[in-house]
Amino acid sequence: MIKAKVKAKESAKPVANSKEEKKKVKKAEPKAVKKETTKTKIEYVEPAKPKAKHKDISPDVTVEERLKALFNLQQIDTAIDKIRIVRGELPLEVQDLEDEIAGLETRMKNYTDEVNALEDTIVQRKQQMKDSLALIKKYEEQQNKVRNNREFDSLTKEIEFQNLEIQLCEKRIKEAKANIAAKNEVIEKAQAELDERKSDLKHKKAELDDIIKETEKEEKSLIKESAKAEEVMEERLLSAYKRIRSNARNGLAVVTVARDACGGCFNNIPPQRQMDIRMRKKIIVCEYCGRILVDQELAGVEVLEEA
Ligand SMILES: [Zn+2]
Repeated sequence: MIKAKVKAKESAKPVANSKEEKKKVKKAEPKAVKKETTKTKIEYVEPAKPKAKHKDISPDVTVEERLKALFNLQQIDTAIDKIRIVRGELPLEVQDLEDEIAGLETRMKNYTDEVNALEDTIVQRKQQMKDSLALIKKYEEQQNKVRNNREFDSLTKEIEFQNLEIQLCEKRIKEAKANIAAKNEVIEKAQAELDERKSDLKHKKAELDDIIKETEKEEKSLIKESAKAEEVMEERLLSAYKRIRSNARNGLAVVTVARDACGGCFNNIPPQRQMDIRMRKKIIVCEYCGRILVDQELAGVEVLEEA
């Protein structure tokens, strides 16, 4: 929380120039002094010793001007936040595509391995058939030289067995060929899908590179703008703004009052406090979330100026 400053300090200074006249006007505001009790309220008098970097700031900058500067800075910083959020999500799309492609490639490799194994089986079976045929030929030659029926029958059985082996090989080869044809069809489809995804990836990557480049350009110019907006702000106010912003989940340190509620935490703001906010005579923070509150008119004026 930002500690409230003591108003008495302001009036202790000698009255001499226009700046002091302004303060007199400020002092004349009755509410400003009376309601200054809670710690959550900040009242800004000019800093006692402005730092060198900010010494060009006129000490009689009004609270209203400070509020406008704060709101302006918040608008710029919010725009930077948005760019970073959007850009953060972009590479995920590319990542998804890359994962999908890797999955398809693994599937393709598995299918290809299976086809190769089936082709090996065919080669083996073909060799087996050749061996069986050779055996049959040998047995048939032996049958011509047999001395009795028993030997002849025994060889006939061997030949029958080898014929059965050949049939089995033919069956297995047929099955393997059908299996290969089916797998090749799947591979072809997967390849088409893979080609499509790869082309998607190429386009998406180019698109995202463009967007990233574009947003980086925009971000850089916004960062410059933000730095410029910071320059016109007193050190104390700026560090308060940065602290509130870093603590806020959505990066909002300056919010408007909308529908009688804080635009940051949506807690109700009492009418008296809303009136104080509209007066723009002191910087008021939400008593629930600590965000700096501005009235909608001030915010609206800024929005129009930005456009
Ligand atoms: Zn709040």
